[in-house]
Amino acid sequence: MRIQTLPSVLVNQIAAGEVVERPASVIKELIENSLDAEAKKIEIEIEQGGIKLMRVRDDGIGIHHDDLLLALSRHATSKVASLEELERISSMGFRGEALPSIASVSRMTLTSRAQEAEHAFQLPPGADAPIPAAHPVGSTLEVRDLFYNTPARRKFLKREQTEFNHIEARVKHLALARFDVGFVLRHNRREILSLPSATSRPEQERRVSKLLGKAFLEQAIYLEHQAAGLRLYGWVARPTFSRSQADTQYFYVNGRAIRDKLVSHAVRQAFQDVLYHGRHPAYLLYLELDPVMVDVNVHPTKHEVRFREGRLVHDFLFRTLHQSLADDRPGAAPDRPMPAGAQERASTPTAPHFVPQTAQLKLAERGAHYRAGFEMQQPHHVGAAAVDTEPGETPRLGFALAQLQGTYLLAENSEGLVLVDMHAAHERITYERLKKAWGESSVRSQPLLVPISVAVSRREADLAQEQQAIFEALGLEVDRMGSETLAVRAIPIVLHGVDAEKLLRDILADLVVYGSSERIRNEINTVLGTMACHGSVRANRRLTIDEMNALLRDMERTERSGQCNHGRPTWTQLRMDELDRLFKRGR
Ligand code: ADP
Ligand code: MG
Repeated sequence: MRIQTLPSVLVNQIAAGEVVERPASVIKELIENSLDAEAKKIEIEIEQGGIKLMRVRDDGIGIHHDDLLLALSRHATSKVASLEELERISSMGFRGEALPSIASVSRMTLTSRAQEAEHAFQLPPGADAPIPAAHPVGSTLEVRDLFYNTPARRKFLKREQTEFNHIEARVKHLALARFDVGFVLRHNRREILSLPSATSRPEQERRVSKLLGKAFLEQAIYLEHQAAGLRLYGWVARPTFSRSQADTQYFYVNGRAIRDKLVSHAVRQAFQDVLYHGRHPAYLLYLELDPVMVDVNVHPTKHEVRFREGRLVHDFLFRTLHQSLADDRPGAAPDRPMPAGAQERASTPTAPHFVPQTAQLKLAERGAHYRAGFEMQQPHHVGAAAVDTEPGETPRLGFALAQLQGTYLLAENSEGLVLVDMHAAHERITYERLKKAWGESSVRSQPLLVPISVAVSRREADLAQEQQAIFEALGLEVDRMGSETLAVRAIPIVLHGVDAEKLLRDILADLVVYGSSERIRNEINTVLGTMACHGSVRANRRLTIDEMNALLRDMERTERSGQCNHGRPTWTQLRMDELDRLFKRGR
């Protein structure tokens, strides 16, 4: 065959292969266009999972009637005119590909009225000139019979309900990105979502609760932090609301929903210490930064982004989230108590025996005997100042009443009954104390009998040499032996028995990708966590009322004390109205 230029319909159908995967991708493109057109209200009408009909109507700025045909031609856009503009893009679209692609694989009708126009114009499928039509200022895009002319693609469509579920998920994503815009979604003439525009925080939380569930919001901490030109805000669910699937994770960069490895790594790291192994955190977060700092032109669907200062962003996310989780303790969170039963509970740990609180603990798992250099403090006496409590006010967790079956502590506060899992709570307090004590002393290291030589790449060897200070701070002594060889001479004492070569490789990999490494700290924390677990109040240990009160005050003071080291809740509140309901007592 001789070389020939492809006909434009075919070019558009090829492009559609990338942009239009299924009805939900059409909905995404159309809603994004409405958002770019500054719409304040967007109505979405779907029939038969979008396969028969999708109609998106907005009250945006509309399209000038001379531009209607142009909007359907390839690489025609009103959103960027130069490379410089592309680099600071803030609109959702910019490729000028969506409308011609969609039009090439469906029967599409575009109706629009620009602000200054006397009436609307319409382009029916295949038309080559607009005809007058009735429509208020704004646009309606109607897409019928998707893939009618590309049978191979049509075959890949799933059941009506499945396709609609994808559409609904897309609408959710976009509605969470733009609280200021109202959305209505109908399927087969039934209203599925109705979301009025939301400006105040309570209004926004109503939308979040409609879209992500009441339980998420009840368990969520709101955070907001700004530094170094970056701003992060949104809701993070307490670790006790963790999920078995990564299905409640929404992250927006400048209003655009993204999935990004760097972001999920930073989040996972922030949750490291509070999440049960294999569980997934739930969050709805918004990152804002100068558009120049982030490249959105990485992939046609624009789900991926590239940060110009990846390490800075990673560090900022990690620190902000880590701090918010650390601050989440009963004494510091007076606004929203954990409602009983709202958590997904894991099984409760109850060791039947009491382990004396001793400073010497055997860590047989690691083949090491570690002598803790400090006493694990017995819960100290009542009267210690309660955090965030005015004189005369009841402390957040109230005052101890009794102990139940040697496992639960019962206390009374202003809202009703407080129930504490003593072991879980004490484990967290002990753990945080051990970490603090560990952090305050310099990390002690122990020379290896025989240094371990590790073959690495030249780049990694250079890096290890440059980052000597990081290794020293971590208690790891690493020397360069040759251009591609490193030697580990000493490791932190508590990590006696670990695979030093693997540890070094993992740290280098972290440094290459993220610019920092939490490996050693995580390894040390694992050891301290094991120690804390062994050293904590076990079931069937009788505490005096004074000791119980001291435990409550310690919880109020201790970071992350809402969860034990495995992410299980340490306490719960039964409010008076909940108790009344149990007894059918109308108040
Ligand atoms: P892009 O969004 O990348 O510019 P599209 O093919 O999605 O490309 O849209 C082409 C052009 O049509 C847009 O640049 C915009 O000028 C116009 N347009 C599309 N949808 C709308 C809408 N709902 N309201 C106003 N203008 C629109
Ligand atoms: Mg577009």
